[in-house]
This record gives sequence, structure tokens and C-alpha cells, in this order.
Amino acid sequence: MDDLKTFCCQNKECSQYGIRGEENIRVRTRYGAKNTRLLYCTHCKQTFSERHGTVFFKSRLPDDTIVSILEHVNEGNGMRKTGRLLHVDPDTVIRYTKLAGEHAEQLHDELVAFSPEDRRDTVRREMGLRTKKTKKLCRKKS
Ligand SMILES: [Zn+2]
Repeated sequence: MDDLKTFCCQNKECSQYGIRGEENIRVRTRYGAKNTRLLYCTHCKQTFSERHGTVFFKSRLPDDTIVSILEHVNEGNGMRKTGRLLHVDPDTVIRYTKLAGEHAEQLHDELVAFSPEDRRDTVRREMGLRTKKTKKLCRKKS
């Protein structure tokens, strides 16, 4: 039996949207070379991939490569360096890093009840120090 407690309805119109642990998610079928489960909500009858909302959704890269990209970036390697090491384009590294960051932010907002305010810039301004400029993750194409 599949454990579907960690999944929730992905239909924003559904009253069960985003609510985990309910009994409304079932496996309809499996598809693709990766044998991905197609899930459906018994409440609104919408189907969605089990990978929806993750970095693996509609990915053409092998899962191991995506995990490796994120591990390299997590260890502090730059986008170009990671691309060279894994033989992928640096823009691919940037795209997966952004997707993982968005997913992590959503999970953080869902799982962390209280997040303390980041006052580092405020304190630095009060002390008369320059504030750190944040680096942009991707560059603009001209
Ligand atoms: Zn639903």
C-alpha cells in the first residue's frame, strides 16, 4: 500500500487544497519511464503528478543528476563550477537551484510555525555600517 499521507490536493479551487494527512488522495495510475504515480483527489476528481511542485516535475535530467546539482550548490560551489563538474549547462544549475529554493521556501512557510525576523540589516544601519548587498541568483538575459 502506498503511503499517501504526505501528499495533498494540488487544485487551488478544491477545499482540500494543501491539506495533508486526509484520506482524499488515491493513486490513479503510473506513467513514464520513471514509473511516476498519477494521483487524484477524491474530493474534486482532479489528477496530478506526485512530482508536482518539486524540482523533479517535468525534469529531463536523471534524478541523481538533480540531487547532485543541489548537493554541489549546497556545498558552496558556484553555478559555473557545478555545471563543469556535472557536465550540465550553468543555466540548468541556476534553474534547478531556483526551483529547489522556491520549494524549500514553501515548505519552510508550511512547517515552521514562527520564523524570527532577520534584523541584521537594521542593526547594521543603526550602527552606521553599510548593509550587505544580496547577490542575485540569476543574471538577466539581454
Ligand atoms: Zn481536490
